[in-house]
Amino acid sequence: MKIKTKLSIGLSFLFFVIVLLGGTGAFYLNQLANDSKKVIQDNYLSVKFMKEMLKALESINAYQTARFNSTRTDVKENVFNSPSFKNQLKIFEENLKLQKRNITEIGEQELVNSLSNNYEEYIKLLERAENEKIADADYYFTNLAPMYDIIRAQVFELLNMNMEAIIRKSENLQNTAKKVTIYLSIIGLVCITISLVFIIRFPAYISNPINSLINSIIEISKRNYEQRLDFKTNDEFQELAISFNQMAEKLNEYEHSNLAKILFEKRRNELIINQMKDAIIGLDKHKNILFVNPLATKLLGLSEDSLVGKYAPDVASTNDLLRNLIQELMTGEQEKDKKSLAIYYENEEQHFAKEMIYITKDNSKEINDKNLIGYVLSLKNITKFHELDEAKTNFIATISHELKTPLSSIKMSLKLLEDSRIGKLNQEQIKLISNVKEESQRLSKIVGELLDLSQVETGNIKLAIQEVEPAQIISYATDALKFQANQKNVSIETKLTGILPKVQADLDKSVWVMANLLANAIKYSPEKSKIQIFAFLNGKFITFSVQDFGIGIEKQYQERIFERFFQIPHSDDTQTGTGLGLAISKEFIEAQGGKIWVESERNSGSKFSFSLPIME
Ligand code: ADP
Repeated sequence: MKIKTKLSIGLSFLFFVIVLLGGTGAFYLNQLANDSKKVIQDNYLSVKFMKEMLKALESINAYQTARFNSTRTDVKENVFNSPSFKNQLKIFEENLKLQKRNITEIGEQELVNSLSNNYEEYIKLLERAENEKIADADYYFTNLAPMYDIIRAQVFELLNMNMEAIIRKSENLQNTAKKVTIYLSIIGLVCITISLVFIIRFPAYISNPINSLINSIIEISKRNYEQRLDFKTNDEFQELAISFNQMAEKLNEYEHSNLAKILFEKRRNELIINQMKDAIIGLDKHKNILFVNPLATKLLGLSEDSLVGKYAPDVASTNDLLRNLIQELMTGEQEKDKKSLAIYYENEEQHFAKEMIYITKDNSKEINDKNLIGYVLSLKNITKFHELDEAKTNFIATISHELKTPLSSIKMSLKLLEDSRIGKLNQEQIKLISNVKEESQRLSKIVGELLDLSQVETGNIKLAIQEVEPAQIISYATDALKFQANQKNVSIETKLTGILPKVQADLDKSVWVMANLLANAIKYSPEKSKIQIFAFLNGKFITFSVQDFGIGIEKQYQERIFERFFQIPHSDDTQTGTGLGLAISKEFIEAQGGKIWVESERNSGSKFSFSLPIME
């Protein structure tokens, strides 16, 4: 049955109850009113007629008594024809006539008929006396008085009959009223009971299925697709339950088919990650470890269970390698200098290059809190490359070392050739020898730098750290390059800010770096320009800067100029340089605990700076 039908039935039932109560109440009230009206009509009017008749009869009798028993002749003659006597007769007759039309009780008809006959008899007796002029008391007592008594008794009898009927009927009325009260009470009670049950049960009948539906929808939203509704109400709710169950079924199927797909994809990805030759560690946005591959667990020396699901910084507190790997995440600063990590693995020292990949939702390069979803740390095994690099460094070291001796002999021989004692040289020969000398000087510079580099690369830099005056570093370097600056007409200004504390540094290496920066500055400055050298205290460091106003360096090359053998392609001086100066400077400064950087713009000069720690 439809809810609409049920609602209509429910409301119709309530309407029926109201009509039933109202109808029966009105019916019984009407009955009671009719009954009481009947009493008034049937009996009360008869009583009223009888009383009028009685009054008139007694008055008629009084006139007769006066007529027959008085000695006064005027009375005797005038009574019968007096208007008031006639009026009494008229009253009696009219009331009798009315009573004849108002016969309601058993025996009343006969009594009224007899009364009417007797009255006619009585009138005849009166008329006879009148006509025959009978006026003695004897006539009265023998004829009129007995008839009067009979009529009077009959009027009384009628009066009593109606009085009794009133009493009897009012008793009946009371009984009926009692019955009506009982009936109405019973009907009312039944109706109230049924209505109460209806009022209590009906809202629940509507609201219970809705509540179940709400709860089931909440469950569905929590992905509990096993949720079902079971309404056997045979109405719209049941149809709703069927549709809901179909929907849940479909969602369940979809979830399971999707789940199977996702699980398959997950297993495949796991297989790929596990079989990779690189160590892989996946972290979520909150730095919790999501997955690790077997190589990563071996390198970290921890089982998969003790890693997956853990907060990476917690694990890192007891694991040096992981601490090193997530350092960038903890400090929030990207590591510029990515050195390889030496890890003891499979009974030998192996080298790994670490990489931190930021995973973003839309694969965009911009990383912010909204699109970042996690991190992948990878360790690439670069032992082979490292070994090759080492071999190359050793080779360079050996070659440059070996080249030093023949170079010294060449220089010696050139000196001897220049000596006039050996023989006079013509102009052409002097020019050739000067060329050879220049080239051999360049060669010896290259060999020297190569040797320095190989020392740096093999970790053989020997630092002689001491207390050094910043001004000393600058003056040694400027002194060394005074000649070159003069040749190009370049002025060097030195600006030291405030009283500078001493730095902890290797004097020779720091001077080497300063001289190298100054040499570059002179080299890339136009003639007659100036170079400024600054030194100032910056926290626990002294920053040294060399500012030139030369050709400058484009942004794209600024990061790379500190790499070995890197030379900017446009440079006209690529022939004379080696591309090693800045790389060696970087190694020297960092070995002393400082930093080196450049700020520059194409065609407006460069500012190379490095910092060194001050004495504590
Ligand atoms: P090189 O021995 O070739 O000068 P460096 O390592 O000293 O090698 O310098 C690397 C490159 O950086 C140079 O080739 C040059 O192009 C660029 N460079 C260095 N200093 C300056 C400077 N002050 N102004 C412009 N370019 C510079």
